[in-house]
Amino acid sequence: MIIVSGCLLGIPCKYDGGTNLSKTVKEFLANRSYVMVCPETMAGLTAPRPPAEIVDGKVFDREGIEVTEAFFLGAQKAWDLASEKARERNEEITLAILKARSPSCGSGRIYDGTFAGVVTDGDGVFAALLKEKGIRVITEEELEAYIEEEGIHD
Ligand code: SF4
Repeated sequence: MIIVSGCLLGIPCKYDGGTNLSKTVKEFLANRSYVMVCPETMAGLTAPRPPAEIVDGKVFDREGIEVTEAFFLGAQKAWDLASEKARERNEEITLAILKARSPSCGSGRIYDGTFAGVVTDGDGVFAALLKEKGIRVITEEELEAYIEEEGIHD
């Protein structure tokens, strides 16, 4: 089973109330088992909401309000839901395809906390949790390379 960021499948849970719909992700998941999550809205944050970025392990929105607790709660809820679905389906979680650079879902590179569109090394809160659990995390931007690397032909 694959975990996927809801916004990549067209759910309007992005901070600005929009989506990050990815045709590549949608087509890849068409005949695969997956669970869609949005850690931030699962934490009770609204869409739209102020954008947030990570500074020294803490999460702040653009208005300077700390939202670290909500981000960790949402990550845990998203993990709990994915684990429950995997148990119900009697499947292993083999992969997560998460939105690049997000403070929850970003993997390897995230925005640097300046709200200036600058990226730095790091993981979003949910991506970090999944990696701790041993789940391979890729972003939608890495999916085509993953398909090629794994020799997937369907
Ligand atoms: S938390 Fe993840 S799934 Fe939700 S909008 Fe942000 S990037 Fe998309």
